[in-house]
Amino acid sequence: MFKRTPIAVAYGDGIGPEIMEATLNVIQAAGANIEIETIEIGEKVYLRGVETGMEPGAWDTLRRTKVFLKAPITTPQGGGYKSLNVTTRKALGLYANVRPSVSYHPFVHTKHPTMDVVIIRENEEDLYAGIEHRQTAQVYQCLKLITRPGSEKIIRYAFEYARANNRKKVTCFVKDNIMKLTDGLFHKVFDEMAAEYPDIENETWIVDIGAAKLADTPENFDVIVMPNLYGDVLSDVAAQIAGSVGLAGSANIGEQCAMFEAIHGSAPRRAGQNLANPSGLLLAAVMMLVHIGQPEVATRVHNAWLKTMEDGVHTYDIFKEGVSRQKVGTTEFAGAVIHRLGEAPKALKPVSYKASQSMSLWRKNGHHQKAEKRLVGVDVFLDWEQGSPNDLGSALSQVAVGPLSLRVITNRGVKVWPDGLPETFCTDHWRCRFLGKEGEAVQTGHVVELLKRVTEAGFDNIKTENLYLFDGAPGFSAVHG
Ligand code: NAD
Repeated sequence: MFKRTPIAVAYGDGIGPEIMEATLNVIQAAGANIEIETIEIGEKVYLRGVETGMEPGAWDTLRRTKVFLKAPITTPQGGGYKSLNVTTRKALGLYANVRPSVSYHPFVHTKHPTMDVVIIRENEEDLYAGIEHRQTAQVYQCLKLITRPGSEKIIRYAFEYARANNRKKVTCFVKDNIMKLTDGLFHKVFDEMAAEYPDIENETWIVDIGAAKLADTPENFDVIVMPNLYGDVLSDVAAQIAGSVGLAGSANIGEQCAMFEAIHGSAPRRAGQNLANPSGLLLAAVMMLVHIGQPEVATRVHNAWLKTMEDGVHTYDIFKEGVSRQKVGTTEFAGAVIHRLGEAPKALKPVSYKASQSMSLWRKNGHHQKAEKRLVGVDVFLDWEQGSPNDLGSALSQVAVGPLSLRVITNRGVKVWPDGLPETFCTDHWRCRFLGKEGEAVQTGHVVELLKRVTEAGFDNIKTENLYLFDGAPGFSAVHG
């Protein structure tokens, strides 16, 4: 017998323990050669007084095993501890979130009988950096970070995944008509990388119309790669229109570690009733088995599961009178899959995994030359409520340092000075753009001195953003209006 592969397992919150037990029962009955190391994370740990929601020893287990099968955990909304899912993904560098959504027509009700889409969601960046601030009485901000190395990693992964899994097309969803710098970079990197994969078709959609098309005609998509937030939202939509969020599993892949989980949450209202569908976690475990080099076991489990679907043995979430045959609970469903191990579906297409379909598709990206960076101005953000935009403009026009002088003031990104419109609604949050004179170098000292003068003039400066040219191109967005 080969050495067992150690895997870390967390039973999670809500329906987590039930679906994890069902999943482990199935894969062990199928012959998975694994050594389970249980770790505790989530609500229970938090309620015991561990503020991070994760026992300190858990990180050691994760870093040693490098493979993590995780049931959903409850994340408090609004306040409370930060999402452990997000923390784990980022701390372990799990940059690629792979979420297949497949329909099982006519056995599971769906309006999209031939859907077979894989959403590859960037997992570490975007608005999920978790950098949020309250800046004034009225205004809160969340930083959206998109990086070149982050975009290169995820987009390269999407194309490599397409190639390894015999997929024909990779689509990119972005909103770079509005977020020209951040989503613009993602799109640019997509175009650069697409050129390296001439065997794979590529296309880009603005995310809003792309999402509408995905919901309407998902059969026109194959692999879709997108930044974190769009991927989070749209992979739930994709799973639900394929049949149920309860059916979709996901793999979170890093350079060294990988985490496998259902895409749904802990569904606390269904917990402890033997109701939940374990399929999402089970299909995640199938991806894990391929990842750890046990493709034959993965194939056995997946085919038995497809046969169970086909035989109409369904949990409540996909049970439909006239289509399904038997309504079962979590435990009975797992039993039905175990009963069918060794069988293959007759109407649905059987699967057959190969070692070459490993989820590890890491390929190093090239190094980019450093851009020449030149300081040309500064955006000074103020908390100010004492008058009109013209009052602010007149007062700040008096504050000029070296080459820096006030050029424009915006409120929530809309120009309000000079020549603003009286109709524009203004909050207490003002962005005042100071730029240097054409051709004259701006020094950091000028910015520091400017801030000193702005403060001495009685203004409340809440933050600044330096304005740079990179190789002569502006590294900041233009002003609307
Ligand atoms: P949810 O996915 O937990 O549940 C939404 C609804 O979907 C449930 O009420 C249920 O009707 C259905 N559902 C989900 N999974 C099912 C299953 N396996 N079988 C049958 N029906 C199922 O979403 P939510 O209610 O928004 O979130 C609950 C908690 O889970 C929150 O604390 C949230 O932060 C957390 N969450 C965790 C993860 C994760 O651990 N990866 C992911 C998403 C949400």
